This record gives sequence, C-alpha cells and structure tokens, in this order.
Amino acid sequence: MNKALILVVEDDVAVGNLIATTLETQNYQYHRANTGAGAVLEALSCRPDVMLLDLGLPDMDGVEIITKVRAWSNMPIIVVSARSEDSDKVAALDAGADDYLTKPFSIDELLARLRVALRRVRYDNQKTSAEASIYENGALKIDYAAGCAYRGGEEIHLTPIEYKLLCLLAKNTGKVLTHNYILREVWGGAVVSDTPSLRVFMATLRKKIEPEPGRQQYIQTHIGIGYRMLRQKNGDEA
Ligand code: CA
Repeated sequence: MNKALILVVEDDVAVGNLIATTLETQNYQYHRANTGAGAVLEALSCRPDVMLLDLGLPDMDGVEIITKVRAWSNMPIIVVSARSEDSDKVAALDAGADDYLTKPFSIDELLARLRVALRRVRYDNQKTSAEASIYENGALKIDYAAGCAYRGGEEIHLTPIEYKLLCLLAKNTGKVLTHNYILREVWGGAVVSDTPSLRVFMATLRKKIEPEPGRQQYIQTHIGIGYRMLRQKNGDEA
C-alpha cells in the first residue's frame, strides 16, 4: 500500500517536530505548514490524505481554513487544540472537521485518530453506487431503500427518530457529529429538542444496536461535543 500523506499544520515548532518524528517512524509521509494560508496552499498543491490542523494559528481562524478546504475537498481533517478551546472544537466540527485531538495528546492517541481517518478515506474510495443504498458496518446493516436496519441479519425495530439518528451517524461514519448538528439534521430545529433529550434517544438506540451494554462498539460518545459511528474492522473492533 502507498504511504499515506499527512499535512501537519502547526505553528508550535516543538509540537510540529514531535508529530513529524512520530509520522516518520510510523512510515507516513508528511508535509508541514505553520500558517493558515500555508495550510490552504499545501492542501491544494500536495493533496494530502489527511490534514492535522492546529486551531491556534497566527494568521487565520481554524473554521475559515476548514471552510476553504471543504469547498473542494472531502479529506479527513483532524483538529488539534488546547483543552480550554472546547467551543472552538465544536465550531471546527460543525464547519466540517472529522475529529479532534486535545493537547497534550499521546502518540498512541494521534496514531489511533489517523487510522480512523485513513479507514474513512479507503472506504469512501472503495464505495460503489450499489453500496450507497446499503450500509454495512460490522454486524450492522441498513437498507436505505427499504428503510430497515439489521443486526447480524435480524431486523432491529427502531422508532422513526431512532432510524433517522442511525442513518445520520451511518452516513457520517468515522466523523464526530456535534450535538447541534445532530439536532438540526434529525429534528430540523422545528420541534423543541435539546441535548438531554438527544441523550435519551441515543441511549435507546444504543440498547438496540450495541452488542454489549456499556461498551461503545458502534456509537462513541464525545462528552460535551457529540457522537460518532465507528467503522468496524471485520465486524469486531473496540
Ligand atoms: Ca498553535
């Protein structure tokens, strides 16, 4: 397999060097940028597989960079920010980022996030038009045309809201979706809806699709941020 190309956008030289060294030892290729303008330029010219984007750059707001890149690219964007910048992370995810890392992060965390992002790229590239009408992820299957969901071949009985929630998560597998995004997409903002009621719907959906209670095999919770559907490897992955 070709070496994946990662664009590392970071103005802190020490952090940038650490990431670059890590990528090198793991056999990834990388390009670096230390400004927002440089990031957009590199993203256009080197066409990376994944972009690691520090939100605290001197010249440009993270959301602005994501919006610019999203205008022509669907590449996974993982934002990196300090713990105090939770609202920035949410804004970045709403603008189209896939995932986030909070500084300080471990090497293992960084590599795990990259693997998730690259798995999405590979899957998106393989997807044929026939597969677009059937979703399969581990033991989970959705037949969009029939409006049915299955687990291990058994139909799962979902309420209309649960089904909409499941489809939204499935269509964005690998991506962290914020509470606001989910509320907007599922309820359209017309009905009184809020994060606590979303949590209730998510709990009942989980009971129906997760094989083990308490284990987040399919739907991952991001406290204070949102939820993500995880792509399963051979039907069994933590
Ligand atoms: Ca910074």
